[in-house]
Amino acid sequence: MSEPQTYKNLIGGEWVASVTGQTFESTNPADTREVVGVFQQSNAEDIDAAVQAAKSAYESWRLTPAPKRGEILFKAAELLRQRKEQAARDMTREMGKVITEARGDVQEAIDMLYFIAGEGRRLYGQTTPSEMPNKFQMSVRVPLGVCGLITPWNFPMAIPSWKILPALILGNTVVIKPAEDAPISTYNFVQCLVDAGLPPGVINIVTGYGPEAGEPLVRHPDVKVVSFTGSTAVGQHITKVAAETMKHVSLEMGGKNGIIVMDDADLDLVVEGVVWGAFGTTGQRCTASSRLIAHRSVADELGRKLAAKAESITIGSGLDEGVTMGPSINADQYKIVCDYVEVGKQEGATVVTGGERLTDGNYQYGFFHQPTIFGDVKASMRIAQEEIFGPVTAIIPVDSLDEAIEVANGVKYGLSSSIYTQDVNQAFRAMRDLDTGIVYVNAPTIGAEIHLPFGGTKATGNGHREGGTQALDVFCEWKSIYVDFSGGLQRAQIDNAE
Ligand code: NAP
Repeated sequence: MSEPQTYKNLIGGEWVASVTGQTFESTNPADTREVVGVFQQSNAEDIDAAVQAAKSAYESWRLTPAPKRGEILFKAAELLRQRKEQAARDMTREMGKVITEARGDVQEAIDMLYFIAGEGRRLYGQTTPSEMPNKFQMSVRVPLGVCGLITPWNFPMAIPSWKILPALILGNTVVIKPAEDAPISTYNFVQCLVDAGLPPGVINIVTGYGPEAGEPLVRHPDVKVVSFTGSTAVGQHITKVAAETMKHVSLEMGGKNGIIVMDDADLDLVVEGVVWGAFGTTGQRCTASSRLIAHRSVADELGRKLAAKAESITIGSGLDEGVTMGPSINADQYKIVCDYVEVGKQEGATVVTGGERLTDGNYQYGFFHQPTIFGDVKASMRIAQEEIFGPVTAIIPVDSLDEAIEVANGVKYGLSSSIYTQDVNQAFRAMRDLDTGIVYVNAPTIGAEIHLPFGGTKATGNGHREGGTQALDVFCEWKSIYVDFSGGLQRAQIDNAE
């Protein structure tokens, strides 16, 4: 194994060591003997330096024409396309997702670069007629200033791109603190922006642990908005901390996503979708299909077919092209998965397949677990209510569409949901009544595209969306401008009233 690279913080266009003098290692979750990178263990002082650099860069970046800003993003897209394979391999090594999925993660960032580059020539506001004569009015987006971005490890390039790019195109500057488990993908992404000509200080990276490096970013008075993706517990904490300085806060958090399977569904199609939705990214997606709310008349047959398919999954290092499921991200997350599997057994659910950790041979060096399907699950059980974030899904039998929708909505999260049916009336009822930010029909709960809004209801979010042009709203204020060219005083609601 080659000597790991040491990565420094990027502050004001310079690569600098943390003032702490301390570093931490990131290891390959498929083989923890491999250190994939060494990173700065930063603190509040490093964060302050990065925020000051971002603040200095803001004045000229906000006045750079947005189409010019877009051109830099376009060049970065071209660079990332050229670097896609290496970026994907780095991602698999640092966080374990299989190489085909890592390529998809990088592709999502490329798509986002092209999409937001184009926004540089749009950033549409509104013009509306005035209620007064000889008066013009419009609304325009204005940037906020320094944006603090905190990201998780599970989509280590796509999620930073969802935040960085809308922030930049609007004329904001950025400080990003990536997750300690997978920072390299953020570096690879930001390097493309730097190489494409992004001026120094417009984007800054500071690595470190959440409480030591993330929280000072949330507390910093010169940071105007915090955009966070991660767990609901940390998101709630961030909201409270950010309130002290009256920051804008955008949160994307957990999920407990359900697939409804009606009795007229094409079960072979369901099986394909469920195995992808539940075990893709080793179940470590906020949109993972962790509940199958199946009509009782098909639940057993579905369980049998699913077990056969799940047992054909090849588990191992994601760099091996034949492998279809990788490890959990780290020891803590692995323990959570193992513990929840025990909870499911104790709660009385049936293990349809899986249920065991893998520790033999090369598996001993990583965090591997069998894909696990529980049957006979009751909607109130913990495995049907709490986010597991691992390769575990639960079949919950129901008797009707009404009951299925009630069960689907009966969790604290509201990110994604799906229904498999061939009945258009049932599909439209589900689309209307499922209380989630994303609904799929005849597809699993994963598979979002970057140009539609992404996010969830209830404990998943706080009303904001990433993706689509809605993502722009997180990183700007609206300014309404009225121009009176009548030459006199015109009083709205008064001079024109009857
Ligand atoms: P996490 O533990 O909440 O961490 C997310 C980020 O917050 C990391 O960068 C973490 O730093 C940082 N952090 C931790 N404590 C902090 C604090 N006190 N102040 C500021 N920052 C802090 O979540 P995760 O384990 O990385 O990700 C898994 C979770 O993300 C799941 O719940 C999943 O559903 C959710 N997620 C949601 C979406 C969505 O769009 N809705 C997408 C992906 C993932 P360190 O880890 O480096 O310490």
